[in-house]
Amino acid sequence: MTEPTFSLSILADLIKILQTAKNVVVLTGAGISAESNIPTFRDAQTGLWAKYSPEELATPQAFRRNPRLVWEWYAWRRALVAQAQPNPGHLALAQLEAYLTKDALRTRHYATGFTLITQNVDGLHQRAGNRSVIELHGNINRTKCFDEGVIVDSWQPTEDVPPPCPYCGGYLRPDVVWFGETLPPQALAAAFEAADQGDVFFSIGTSGLVQPAASLAYQAIQGGAVVVEINPDVTPLTNSATYLLQGPAGQVLPILMRALSE
Ligand code: NAD
Repeated sequence: MTEPTFSLSILADLIKILQTAKNVVVLTGAGISAESNIPTFRDAQTGLWAKYSPEELATPQAFRRNPRLVWEWYAWRRALVAQAQPNPGHLALAQLEAYLTKDALRTRHYATGFTLITQNVDGLHQRAGNRSVIELHGNINRTKCFDEGVIVDSWQPTEDVPPPCPYCGGYLRPDVVWFGETLPPQALAAAFEAADQGDVFFSIGTSGLVQPAASLAYQAIQGGAVVVEINPDVTPLTNSATYLLQGPAGQVLPILMRALSE
C-alpha cells in the first residue's frame, strides 16, 4: 500500500479551514473499508468469484437470472463484513464528528454541522461511532423481499437459497441498492442538501464513477465548498478538488485528526 504524500502546508491550511467551518460533509466509498479487508468490487472478483463481474452479481437482472448465485455471493460478503473491524480511517472519522459537533462544545465556541454520506453497505461507520450517517446504498445486514421491498427481520432457514419471504413466498434479497436501481429518495435528498450546505466536503475512497453519488462533490463545489479528496489513486474528481491528500484513508485520516486536535 502506498505511503501518504502531501505537504505539511496543505495540512496546516486544512486545519485552519476545519477550525472555522460551519458544515463539514464526508462522502465515503468502498476504499475506506479496504483496510478492514472488505474488498472493493474491483478487488472482490478474485478466487471463487473471479469469473463474475459485479454486473453479473449486483443487479436485479442477475438476481432474476440466478438468485442462488447472487444470494451466495452476498452471504460470502456478509460473512466478510461480520468478521471485519472498523479501521483507523473509520475511527478517525468518528473522532472528527465528535470533535466538530456538540460533544466537543466544552472546548469549542460553537458546534459545526457534520454529515457522513456513505456508499458502503457494511455499517462500519456506525460501528466506529459515527452518528450522523446517511446510507445511500442500503445495508448488507438487512434483508428485504425482492417483490414487495418489505424489510424482513427473520425467516425459516431453508436448504435451498434464497429463502422465501415469510409474507408473500417470493425470494428474499439483501437490502442494498444494485446497479440500475434507484437510491432511497429521502437519503438521496438529504445527501444533496448536505453537500449543498457544506463548506468543506471530503471525498474518501470513492472512484467517483457510480452515479448519483459521484455528483455530490460537484454539488458541493457549486455551493462554494472546499473539496478534499483522500485516495491513493487519482479519480475523475481529482482535478476539480481543492486538495488531494494522496494515500490510504487509514493512514491519512489519523494524521489529519492528530493535527486537528493538537
Ligand atoms: P468505488 O467506486 O467507491 O472505488 C473504490 C475507490 O477506493 C478507488 O478509487 C480506489 O482507488 C480507492 N481506494 C482503494 N483503497 C483505498 C484506501 N485504502 N483508502 C482510500 N481509498 C482507497 O468502489 P467500488 O468497489 O467500485 O464499488 C462501487 C459500489 O459498490 C460502492 O459505491 C458500494 O455501494 C458498493 N460496495 C460497497 C462495499 C462496502 O460496503 N464496503 C464494498 C464494495 C462495493
